[in-house]
Amino acid sequence: MARVSSRHRETHGVHARRLLAASPPKTKPRSSQIRKRAEHGDDAMSRALLAHVLHRPPLLGSRSGAGARGLLASRIHPLRRLNCSAAEAAPGPTEEAPASPARKKRVVSGVQPTGMVHLGNYLGAIKNWVALQDLYETFFFIVDLHAITLPYDAPELSKATRSTAAIYLACGIDSSKASIFVQSHVRAHVELMWLLSSSTPIGWLNRMIQFKEKSRKAGDENVGVALLTYPVLMASDILLYQSDLVPVGEDQTQHLELTREIAERVNNLYGGRKWKKLGGKGGSLFKVPEALIPPAGARVMSLTDGLSKMSKSAPSDQSRINLLDPKDVIVNKIKRCKTDSFPGLEFDNPERPECRNLLSIYQIITGKSKEEVVSECQDMNWGTFKTTLTDALIEHLQPIQARYEEIVSDPGYLDNVLLEGAGKASEIADITLNNVYQAMGFLRR
Ligand code: ATP
Ligand code: MG
Repeated sequence: MARVSSRHRETHGVHARRLLAASPPKTKPRSSQIRKRAEHGDDAMSRALLAHVLHRPPLLGSRSGAGARGLLASRIHPLRRLNCSAAEAAPGPTEEAPASPARKKRVVSGVQPTGMVHLGNYLGAIKNWVALQDLYETFFFIVDLHAITLPYDAPELSKATRSTAAIYLACGIDSSKASIFVQSHVRAHVELMWLLSSSTPIGWLNRMIQFKEKSRKAGDENVGVALLTYPVLMASDILLYQSDLVPVGEDQTQHLELTREIAERVNNLYGGRKWKKLGGKGGSLFKVPEALIPPAGARVMSLTDGLSKMSKSAPSDQSRINLLDPKDVIVNKIKRCKTDSFPGLEFDNPERPECRNLLSIYQIITGKSKEEVVSECQDMNWGTFKTTLTDALIEHLQPIQARYEEIVSDPGYLDNVLLEGAGKASEIADITLNNVYQAMGFLRR
């Protein structure tokens, strides 16, 4: 034990010196540049993909308005390196992923089990995943470890986790195409987080906007260390799978940039020849991921304030439509949602954020074009439109709710899906984790 500690101190000293010596991360393209590149990408396949994945046109909220985070803003990575598999990017010397001649790119994403999944989570995330699972190797997990970064209700956590998994399936995520699992069931997430933490300067975390905002809201004495360090867990979530693409909302772009910085830093500190000298394969330990941000992403706004995003953690349930809300609750929420006193209905009047939000929700769930919605609804009064919207919502959500009931009525089925998903995820995650242990000089088990 004593020897371990002194070795640890020594390693730590060397490591600290390396950290100080390590050059600051290279300047990364900012999100806007990334987006621009994607929008102007000349790759026909990526344009086709863009159209396929993102067939819904409207931008539900103002990106520049107050609280305009969370927008799934804009990028599909050109598919120019389709044949470059994650395993090719960073295989281990002793633990190679099975060879695959043309592995699809990998995509990871998740929802926190912090409450009821709502229309924003569905239109902004889960509904897009359904299209992504046909094009990529996908890993969709329930990020339960992230749900404890703020005070939470322990008995509710496992229920919300199961419910979120069942909602993924009910919305059309297919366990034969995507790996569906619970983050805490794949232990490598937490282990890699610790390894990455040692290479993450605290200043990088201090500048995270979400930390600043959430800690200000929670009050300093209620803020746990996890609120500061969870972006490192998010980096671990992504880097473990050698992910190529990460669908993120605008609220997460800063965390994705941090992930890229951490990946490059660890690659520089421990990868390449240094790793080879320790018996490893050399090369990069991590693939540096790219954001996958739809160009016209949904940002569903609150029903009680058209300038705030619909959110699980908003105190009033009246502010959101939960995917599992019964018919009468939907009727009631739409009846009472905030409107305005302008005549007629319109999308583009900046003084009418609620009007734009409700019309856009209607447009997306009916699959109509903006022009069709304008010609159908422009002369309606609020009473007529609210009935139309309510009917459309109920019609859209009813099959999802029916599938959800079927799924939860067979707990064994859900258990199997999660077990299988965690198994597949662990296989890949463990390869990355073992490589990192090796490259960082740990004694092999
Ligand atoms: P919380 O309030 O606990 O943060 P949330 O409603 O923001 O919950 P998350 O679990 O943080 O939900 O996010 C899951 C996914 O849903 C993310 O991809 C996020 O970008 C997306 N998302 C969340 N809210 C909206 C929204 N109002 N419109 C569109 N997408 C959203
Ligand atoms: Mg959120």
